[in-house]
Amino acid sequence: MATIKENLSNVYKKIEEACAKSGRKTDEITLLAVTKTVPVERIREIMDLGVICLGENRVQELLSKYDELPDARWHIIGHLQTNKVKSIIGKTELIHSVDSIRLAEEIGRQSVNKGIITDILLEVNVSGEESKYGMTLDFVDEMIDNCTRIEGINVRGLMTMAPLGAEETEIRRIFSSLYKKYVDISTKKYDNISMEYLSMGMSGDFHIAIEEGANIVRVGRGLFQ
Ligand SMILES: *Cc1c(COP(=O)(O)O)cnc(C)c1O
Repeated sequence: MATIKENLSNVYKKIEEACAKSGRKTDEITLLAVTKTVPVERIREIMDLGVICLGENRVQELLSKYDELPDARWHIIGHLQTNKVKSIIGKTELIHSVDSIRLAEEIGRQSVNKGIITDILLEVNVSGEESKYGMTLDFVDEMIDNCTRIEGINVRGLMTMAPLGAEETEIRRIFSSLYKKYVDISTKKYDNISMEYLSMGMSGDFHIAIEEGANIVRVGRGLFQ
């Protein structure tokens, strides 16, 4: 089995290659280490190697690791239930998985209560796969309109997942249509909406995502397995 250090250098190499191929700079790309099911000891190893942005799917798991890793910057990347929002407000750098007005409103309400503003991304189900969370691409504009009137949140970009096992051309099509949407929204002016982060790509497809415009990639197995 490869060490975390070896895995990390492979991932960095792939990021560099994808950047070179698409004329981008590596320092534009944030590597998010997805630490679901990874014990704190192994997470410390990767943090010692300089990766401090961590992604968790489940609130409970994030909270169980939170106190032990005070230097981590936590990202929620999995489906978030409204009744769990209160427990993580103020503890996240970015919530990637906001997919409904109700959820955005609850994040706003709890943030206002705490006197803070929470940064979020809107999760889009580009492929329209039924098993997936996320709003349809068609709904994004309406969602943005709704978010402009919600206090306590800043929408900082978009997130998507490609279907598992899809062909490369299909994955590319999905990533590039979200990139188009991202660029389209970024030309508009809103108070609490800005398009700075495009979170796309996991272990199997992050190189494609970078070529198609992602600036946050979420890698789990590629680092810890
Ligand atoms: C698990 C997960 C990842 C990482 O997947 P790997 O294939 O392990 O790299 C990325 N994003 C989300 C939303 C996930 O749930």
